[in-house]
Amino acid sequence: MLQTFLRSKQSLTHHLPSRPFGFFVAQDYNPDFKSCLESQHLIKSDKDYRFAVVGCGPAGFYCAKQILKNVANVRVDIFDRNPHPFGLVRTGVAPDHPEMKKIEKDYEEVLKDTERCQFYGNVWIGANGGVSISKLKELYSGVILAYGATSERDLGLPSEKSLLGILSSRQMASWYNGSLDKDVLYDQDLALEQVKNVVIVGNGNVAMDISRVLMKDPEKMAPHDIPTPVLEHLRKTRINSISLVGRRGAVQSAFTIKEIREISRIPDLTMYALKQELLDSFTEASEREQHPDFSVHARGIQRRTEFIKQTSVILENEEQVREVVERKEGRKFILRYLNKPVELLGEQRVKGVKFERMRLEGSAGDQRAVAVEPKQVTTMDCELLIKSIGYKSQPIEGITFNTKTHTVPNLMGCVLNDKDEPQPGLYVAGWLKRGPSGIIDATLRDSVETFRIIKHHLDNEMLPEKHTKPEDVQKAILENAANHQVVDYGDWQKIDAVERQEGSSRGKSREKILHKEEMLSISKKV
Ligand code: NAP
Repeated sequence: MLQTFLRSKQSLTHHLPSRPFGFFVAQDYNPDFKSCLESQHLIKSDKDYRFAVVGCGPAGFYCAKQILKNVANVRVDIFDRNPHPFGLVRTGVAPDHPEMKKIEKDYEEVLKDTERCQFYGNVWIGANGGVSISKLKELYSGVILAYGATSERDLGLPSEKSLLGILSSRQMASWYNGSLDKDVLYDQDLALEQVKNVVIVGNGNVAMDISRVLMKDPEKMAPHDIPTPVLEHLRKTRINSISLVGRRGAVQSAFTIKEIREISRIPDLTMYALKQELLDSFTEASEREQHPDFSVHARGIQRRTEFIKQTSVILENEEQVREVVERKEGRKFILRYLNKPVELLGEQRVKGVKFERMRLEGSAGDQRAVAVEPKQVTTMDCELLIKSIGYKSQPIEGITFNTKTHTVPNLMGCVLNDKDEPQPGLYVAGWLKRGPSGIIDATLRDSVETFRIIKHHLDNEMLPEKHTKPEDVQKAILENAANHQVVDYGDWQKIDAVERQEGSSRGKSREKILHKEEMLSISKKV
């Protein structure tokens, strides 16, 4: 069977993006994939199949959509711990990017097919009072894990967890997107009115989203779905500077040109970069990384580097950086490179970060940051430190988990057991499968790959027929928690209507409900 898997792997790999720089740009999108998706021929079997999808974000939706579209006698149940659907499209995509959120309409089409698809919101899958994976395996022909990344990577520095004013990018995005997760201590930790200078470690697109939301005029976001309490907090804010710090060089910046352009257009904002850090970024290997022959990303990378060089005011030394940070007028966005955080300063609340100077080592596409000798240390003052160094998935009971990559080991989407053997009937998609990187198109691509393995198993009759009914699923949920309130699609429509109505009365697209209990009480109403 492994041989058959590997053969199909060869036929698929040319569609998969290479990731030499850890991010995908929009141009990566390969339209062949859409046609491949359209051309899946119907799996005509007179058997009944049932699939469970764990996680109602983009990966879960794309898997559900493909199964419903291509399998004749099938029902798909989508479970989510939240009472609302849409995963990171609702709680991750920045509120000032409403065009990205339009994709929810596409996902909604899946949920509307209530004859064949059920949404089970507010249902926990896994240990600690949830429905177990073994129970799902009893009920379904196949289980697809698509619950994403609900945690974050740490810097691994002393007092990272104890000092106030240190938040992860996940917590920041959860806050300004009105997530129901209550792990941001708004008053103490965020306290934006006390914050003049922000340091962000990591320079990916999430860091850019956060910088934009903190720096742009809140009134520009007011018509969208940003929660009113967040908007009010931002209105009281006057952030003077954001230093965006990468451990590697300018060529390895993880943000895309579109995002840096958008930041640079914020009125009253000036972008800065340090001369020596830019010079040290351009190693021979970095020059090579920008050569069109090197990779499909090279031109985009080169355009981005040019943009950084041309748009930034170049500072000569640390003293000039300090002068800029202390200057009262205008907002400053300072691109820092080749700096790795080594110590957090402050007693109760963070007041600065010590960075050690790095240099690049290694060949093109594989350059690492190593400390310069003798050591050079820089301190950046801040009242808010944001760790934007990537999200992290959590393991689920009964499924092998790679604790280094924080992903579920899989072969093209089929989960592997601890002996590396594929487990037909158990699948994975999205960030839990490939790690926390890539835009929604990349998730579409890898969900197509996961579906192709499912199709392969269906074509070869490797999955059991199931006749599970909604009552059986309800029973399994209630076995773990009596009186548990499940939120179905009809209930979500009620919540959605209240949010839209409240939004419209305030001149916004939506006013998000911030408390789970309130959502549950709306969904109960007849
Ligand atoms: P990311 O793009 O992977 O960026 C992570 C950053 O953290 C990199 O600069 C990385 O540096 C740095 N980093 C990692 N570990 C570190 C450490 N221990 N110390 C210092 N720096 C460290 O992650 P992300 O920003 O969370 O974004 C996740 C994905 O979502 C990305 O693919 C992103 O493009 C996508 N996204 C897209 C949009 C959009 O299109 N508008 C918006 C949001 C998110 P190295 O490169 O040196 O590892």
